[in-house]
Amino acid sequence: MQVYERTTGCGLVNEQYWNQQICLSGWVHRRRDHGGLIFIDLRDRSGLMQLVFNPEFSKEAHEIAHTLRSEYVITACGKVVERAPETVNNELETGKWELHVESIAILNSAKMLPFSIEDADVIDEELRLKYRYLDLRRPDMQKNFALRHKVIFAMREFLNNQAFYEIETPILTKNTPEGAREFLVPSRIHTGSFYALPQSPQLYKQILMCGGMEKYFQVARCFRDEDLRADRQPEFTQLDIEMSFISELDVQHLIERLLKFVFDKVLGKNLHIPFKRLTYDEAFSSYGSDKPDLRYDLKIHDFSPVFADTELKFLRDVLARGEKIGGIHVSGHSFTHSELNRWVDKAQKLGAKGLLWIDLESPDKISSPVSKFLPADFFARVLKTCDAVENGSVLFIVAGEYEVAWEILGRLRQELAKELNIIPQDELNFSWVTDFPLLEYDAKDKCWNAKHHPFTSPAKGWEHQELGEIKARAYDVVLNGIELGGGSIRIHDRTVQEKVFKLLGLSAEEVALKFGFLLEAQELGFPPHGGIALGLDRFIMLLTNSASIREVIAFPKTARGYDPMMESPTPVDNKQLKEYGLQLSPVSSNKKE
Ligand code: ASP
Repeated sequence: MQVYERTTGCGLVNEQYWNQQICLSGWVHRRRDHGGLIFIDLRDRSGLMQLVFNPEFSKEAHEIAHTLRSEYVITACGKVVERAPETVNNELETGKWELHVESIAILNSAKMLPFSIEDADVIDEELRLKYRYLDLRRPDMQKNFALRHKVIFAMREFLNNQAFYEIETPILTKNTPEGAREFLVPSRIHTGSFYALPQSPQLYKQILMCGGMEKYFQVARCFRDEDLRADRQPEFTQLDIEMSFISELDVQHLIERLLKFVFDKVLGKNLHIPFKRLTYDEAFSSYGSDKPDLRYDLKIHDFSPVFADTELKFLRDVLARGEKIGGIHVSGHSFTHSELNRWVDKAQKLGAKGLLWIDLESPDKISSPVSKFLPADFFARVLKTCDAVENGSVLFIVAGEYEVAWEILGRLRQELAKELNIIPQDELNFSWVTDFPLLEYDAKDKCWNAKHHPFTSPAKGWEHQELGEIKARAYDVVLNGIELGGGSIRIHDRTVQEKVFKLLGLSAEEVALKFGFLLEAQELGFPPHGGIALGLDRFIMLLTNSASIREVIAFPKTARGYDPMMESPTPVDNKQLKEYGLQLSPVSSNKKE
């Protein structure tokens, strides 16, 4: 068979090729048979190009074109001709041109496809994943991966320019307590022992700082064996960074400049830096969340002073218990009574015992299930708490323990914003949330856990504070209500590290066993250091406006952690298990996907 060499990409045909003989290779996207003329849209990574087969150009090629079906792989050669004005397709990059085919080679055929490349959007996701190679051929997916590549490439370029080294750290490692359950890998040589897959390269990147590398980054694969949620993957990718001799602001400024570079380079957008900064306490008290969506206002206010002398017994009891009364003030929208009652149901579904609504039509016209019990100057009191209260505003009140009530209000705030349609869809709102608590109390296990991880440095003065009050030198970068990444300044001093391990309830033996190497390194010239990690899948998902991170991961698992193409995970036979010194219990060996 004659070998045809591809001249250019289907989507790249332009003026330059006018009247030229060229060859294109790709997949048959669509075929229209108009009797004498056959039209084929040929598709490759770069786009689509119309091929025209006419017996007058080549009888043989025309005959072959009759036999072509969707997704046949072909090379077609011929002359690039300008289309007649009435047949120009303005929606196509190459819509001004067509290729008059004079010769063709079929490189491979394709059977009837399980779904069409054109409308895979409506296809069951598991089927898409089973035939991921077909799914990946869709132009939308091609766009997602082109963007993913460009973003990661730009990040590398930026960090290289800032004198960072890209260094790989092991995948077979030892567990690091960062809060998630780990995947274990049995060792055949060390029977009975297991490696852990890294939740993140945390300890390795710190040790690299001790190794004098000063500026490290890695496009790192991380693994977490957690209960799967709709948009979580057991493995994901993060941009992992660590630096020596720096402060919180150095890391934050680096990330701001990196994101600005990426936006400029990849999207041609100007990103405004520096980002807004909020402390964890500010974020939580105003938005009921440590990752607030700042594209809209709807702040949470503390209405406890407004109700200080209330006649309402249930609110009096709340205040007497030292709990709080919080509320969101919505102006510019009127609600019918049935809508207000629907919000009560919603709040209850979010975990609130109740939701009190107060409709402030005007200073002397207030309606609410409790309006009789509200003082005459209620409107004025509200005005003192919120900066501006217009006539026709509605208050949604939730009372209870501060953390619980505010978290519910935070979720109510998001629901309200969605329903009231006040979220600017094309805005990208970045912010930093800083000064996180170092520890969080686990009421179930009655112990304190690290909020970030045990290697995060406590903020000044910590040794004289109550455990719940200690702040961490930790920060998160938030985009439109989604945590894009987080990091911290780390502990580099053995004494501090040992004290923090103690706060976390780790015994000296446990510490020696798990972190002996770290403590030892901390006594051998460990420089002050800190870093951050950005979740790349989520970031690309937001940039491509994708509905799920699975749209931007080439081979994701289903929500049940299953790969329908490779059909993994798979059972292992007894012979292989034996090599690892393993034996399955009857329950697990019966379990099938
Ligand atoms: N290791 C952390 C994480 O994966 C990030 C960091 O502290 O740099 O979330």
